[in-house]
Amino acid sequence: MQLVLIGPPGAGKGTIAEKVAAKYGLAHLSTGDMLRDAIARGTALGAEAKEYVETGRLVPQEILGRVVAERLRADGNFILDGYPRTLEQAEFLSGLPGVALDAVIYVAVREEEAFARSRGRRVCRACGAVSGADEADVCGRCGSSDLAARADDRPATLKKRYDVYVRETAPVIEYYRGHGLLREVDGTGGREEVLARVEAAIGPALARGDDNG
Ligand code: ADP
Repeated sequence: MQLVLIGPPGAGKGTIAEKVAAKYGLAHLSTGDMLRDAIARGTALGAEAKEYVETGRLVPQEILGRVVAERLRADGNFILDGYPRTLEQAEFLSGLPGVALDAVIYVAVREEEAFARSRGRRVCRACGAVSGADEADVCGRCGSSDLAARADDRPATLKKRYDVYVRETAPVIEYYRGHGLLREVDGTGGREEVLARVEAAIGPALARGDDNG
């Protein structure tokens, strides 16, 4: 199964994608996580991407495209989280060999709720896992207590990211609606509630692979 997850910054994409990946046996590919990881490790990709990520701008497709293409070559069943974010990226993705998306899950959240969630979240400096404001003071994945605010969650940067989302990513939603792939889910409420809606949107047929023939 090949899924794309789209939603504004703070929609909870990372949390949802991780759970969906585990439940359906998919690779979880988050471009945000890949970039943060590359920056933390000081790789060539990290050096190229740092400035963009920390100021809330999109990393150019010339830089990110080859990374995504490489990762997707290795994984036939995936949930893509944070990609595509522009029409250019959506077209690039559909042109990649082996890519035939089954569904695009759009998690809809209003701006105020998205902001409130992003403001309190923290990233683990040891393993990169992101946790919400309402979670424990130790990392839920590795147990480290070295948690910090995400560099791009400052209010001004958050506003910028939301504006970029409205301008660049909203057209991607319409693109997939036009291709009959879009499944819209209400992203307000608690984690379990949202996850249940996402699973309902994926549906048993898709999970069994009926739509793939
Ligand atoms: P959020 O969805 O909360 O904004 P992400 O972790 O998905 O957070 O992305 C963080 C940052 O990484 C973005 O603001 C951007 O700078 C960069 N990034 C992630 N995915 C892409 C993408 N598909 N295209 C360009 N830049 C990206």
